[in-house]
Amino acid sequence: MKLLRKLIDRIRTAGEEDTSNYWVYVKCDHCGEKLRARADLDNDLSIRYAEAEGGNTYLCRKAIIGNGRCFNPIEVELTFDHQRSLVDKQIQDGQFTSEAEFHAE
Ligand SMILES: [Zn+2]
Repeated sequence: MKLLRKLIDRIRTAGEEDTSNYWVYVKCDHCGEKLRARADLDNDLSIRYAEAEGGNTYLCRKAIIGNGRCFNPIEVELTFDHQRSLVDKQIQDGQFTSEAEFHAE
C-alpha cells in the first residue's frame, strides 16, 4: 500500500512540471513587442472564496514589462478554477497571443 502511494506520488511529481506553471503570451499594444510570463500555480495564486461550496477560484495578477522598447506594463489577470484550469483571462494595454506566435519570426 505504501509502495503504491509512493509510485503515485512519483508519477504526479513527474507530471507536475507542465501543470504547475501556466505560460501567458502577450503582445504590447504600444510597441508590438511579444512577451511572455510564467504564472507559478503553486505560489502565484491567491484564492477567491466563492459563496457556493466548491466554487472557489484562484486569481493570478501579472504586470509584464518589456525589454526596453517601451516601459508600458501589460497587466494580466488570470482566473483558475479549483482544479487550476484557466477559466478567465483579462488584459490591459496588450493582447493575448499564442505560444506559436510568440516563437514566430
Ligand atoms: Zn511596449
